Amino acid sequence: MKIRASATLRAFFGRRDVLEIDGDTVESALTALFDEYPEAKKVAFDDEGNLRDFIRVYANGEDKTARDQWSAPLSDDSEILLLPSISGGAPFESVVSNERAKAVALDDAEIERFTNHLTLREISVRGQKKIKAARVAVVGAGALGSAVIRSLAAAGVGTIKAIDFDSVEPRNLQTQTLHGLRDINRPKVASARDSVRNISKSIAFEAENSAVTADNAISLLKGFDLVLDCSDNYKARYLINDACFFCGIPVVFGAMFQCEGRVGVFNYNGGACYRCLFPSPPPPGLVPTCSENGVISPLPGIIGSIQANEAIKLIVGIGEPLVDKTLVFDVLNLRTTLLEVAKDDKCPLCGRNRTIATVEDFDYDDFCGLKVDETEEPIDEMEPEELAKRIENGDPITIVDVREPHERAILRFPKTVVIPIGQLARRQKELDPKLDTVFVCKEGKRSAFAVRTLREAGYAGRTYTLKGGIDATRDIIFSREGGWL
Ligand SMILES: [Zn+2]
Repeated sequence: MKIRASATLRAFFGRRDVLEIDGDTVESALTALFDEYPEAKKVAFDDEGNLRDFIRVYANGEDKTARDQWSAPLSDDSEILLLPSISGGAPFESVVSNERAKAVALDDAEIERFTNHLTLREISVRGQKKIKAARVAVVGAGALGSAVIRSLAAAGVGTIKAIDFDSVEPRNLQTQTLHGLRDINRPKVASARDSVRNISKSIAFEAENSAVTADNAISLLKGFDLVLDCSDNYKARYLINDACFFCGIPVVFGAMFQCEGRVGVFNYNGGACYRCLFPSPPPPGLVPTCSENGVISPLPGIIGSIQANEAIKLIVGIGEPLVDKTLVFDVLNLRTTLLEVAKDDKCPLCGRNRTIATVEDFDYDDFCGLKVDETEEPIDEMEPEELAKRIENGDPITIVDVREPHERAILRFPKTVVIPIGQLARRQKELDPKLDTVFVCKEGKRSAFAVRTLREAGYAGRTYTLKGGIDATRDIIFSREGGWL
């Protein structure tokens, strides 16, 4: 019969994942196995000969860890799995059932096209049929989505749904390989559809040109085997996590920050969810969103490919998925770290005392700083046109740039005082409370946070945030005759 060892144990079995062993019970098979690998025996059993607590034994998918089950007869083609408890509580199951895989057939063209998988022992015909039967939703057709959608389409995933509300802009082309010059201003999902059609005509591709909201999250994702989170903002991330928890769909999550990427599998078979790791998003303004942050251009390809690889593993049921783990990949120094993510009993979504009973919206808006706390005094916004007029008229006004140094290097805003948010309270004496003070950042979120910070520090002068930030202002400010630079 076959014995499989989980990757963490493999080092003790000559790095082999499958071992052929003679035996007709769990007892006789394990005895034969450990006679052959005495080093492994020291790991698996204590001095009294008892199986150590952290290892579970499965035979043909059934838990046979208890010693009294070891003498039950097993057939020749049985498979025993040795699973350290740290990897999760159950043997690894494909997200696509065998019945569904059996119901699809591969035609001659597909047999030729998918040769790479068909000749790969781990996948073969059985696995490729599962890939064809699989229904995968990808949220985000941007940077990560580009790598994921291309890879899944090429692999032969039968049904792919892409969800994105954005249109293609020139600055996307550096990281988003689904889109090209002729796609500028087109919806990203339309461009994604064309790219997928160019890879294969037989994929059922659904293009959803809308944002994920609390109202639509469940209906958008329900019925899919797997969701790939390729979003770039906290709101979408928490909506996807919560909706998938309620629908029982595993999520392959991907995220990027500058030169670092993260991948993890959440909500698989009762495993940890994203909120077990981060119960709630950071306060608004503290962390720039991905759309405010640059990334090194090959990073989304690398991280998206790892996500797609996890998806294929989950669909076929092979390898060791990143369940209850997060891979952190620093591509600048080529360092990877594998973090254990324990399911949290206190998780507000999947823990014992759940406080989240449905996919909720208002919380996310608050969390993400998209909505101002109504109990707080509102922050005055200044329209870009108004600011332009005041500068042109020579009105006395103070403009404070709270962006990071690397952001200021891209585009310098004229006539500004530079004070990082962290120093505002301490340096408020540099501001003249008799003058109106306007705070500027890239999108207008961090500047609103700056106003609040200053207010809390007791500043008495009139403060504004520049509406929409420099992104909304650049055309107005920089198209003026003569410019201000
Ligand atoms: Zn959780």
